Amino acid sequence: MTVRGRFAPSPSGRMHLGNLLAALLAWLDVRSQGGIMVLRIEDLDPQRCSLNKAEQLVEDLQWLGLDWDEGGLEPEYCQSHRSHHYQVAFDRLEAMGLVYPCYCTRAERLAASAPHASDGAVVYNRRCAQLTQTQRDMLEAQGRRPAFRVRVPHQTVTVDDGHMGPYTQQLDTDCGDFIVRRSDGVWAYQLAVVVDDALMGVNHVVRGCDLLTSTPAQAWLHRTLGYQPPAFYHLPLLVDAQGRRLSKRDRDLDLGVLREKYTPQELVGWLGWLAGLQKEPKSATPRQLISRFQWSKVPKKSIAIGST
Ligand code: GLU
Ligand code: ZN
Repeated sequence: MTVRGRFAPSPSGRMHLGNLLAALLAWLDVRSQGGIMVLRIEDLDPQRCSLNKAEQLVEDLQWLGLDWDEGGLEPEYCQSHRSHHYQVAFDRLEAMGLVYPCYCTRAERLAASAPHASDGAVVYNRRCAQLTQTQRDMLEAQGRRPAFRVRVPHQTVTVDDGHMGPYTQQLDTDCGDFIVRRSDGVWAYQLAVVVDDALMGVNHVVRGCDLLTSTPAQAWLHRTLGYQPPAFYHLPLLVDAQGRRLSKRDRDLDLGVLREKYTPQELVGWLGWLAGLQKEPKSATPRQLISRFQWSKVPKKSIAIGST
């Protein structure tokens, strides 16, 4: 079967070192197997994303020397133009009786005395699943607009990650009923990513470990909608010398700044070295790394990066 991978960047700002590592390894995973690369723009949130930023992302990927075979800025590959697909999936979930409106404010959700997932995320306590139609009508009359949640079953889901190995969650207690449509009408990432990976025929998903905890819910949603989940490959997090997770606040690791200091070959060579594909951080093009790419060389534990 032909490997179909994807870049799925969010144009909410410049790419960060972690995004670059994910992009490079997704590209190597596809190119080393003669596969097809898709570029999808994850611009669901109109408050944070813009066409300008998406254009910058595309230009940044090209600057790095990463290419793709399908997608890009065409509307059919931009999530902001794909609402009709998410609506169809939403309607199907609703017809299965799995969707309910949730009127909780952020404060109410945080105050809820539900158990917490291992990563500290708040597991929703299903407060609104019990509401009667009369109670819903009263809340709407007060001007409250609901988000919509999907009700997950009491089920254990194991994802056999191609890089990290088996990862298991008990859906109702580790993940909880998750939002598929926000109260402002914006489709949730969890729904959009599943629908898009399925409709775009993506069968290899390479991305950062921060999304591993979302993966069992995504695999379950794929199956619930009648799709085959893709193979997942999660990458270790990048951390600083003190072991702290790098964040968007580390401005010096954003591509805007990195581009002033390095050539694309220097950056790619450095990323290739961090990923265990070469012994030294010497310059390389993405193409030169193809023959050296093997998942077994890539670290599984967090990767500490020195100062740049
Ligand atoms: N759009 C997400 C991000 O930029 C990636 C989603 C995914 O790879 O599933 O972090
Ligand atoms: Zn609620």
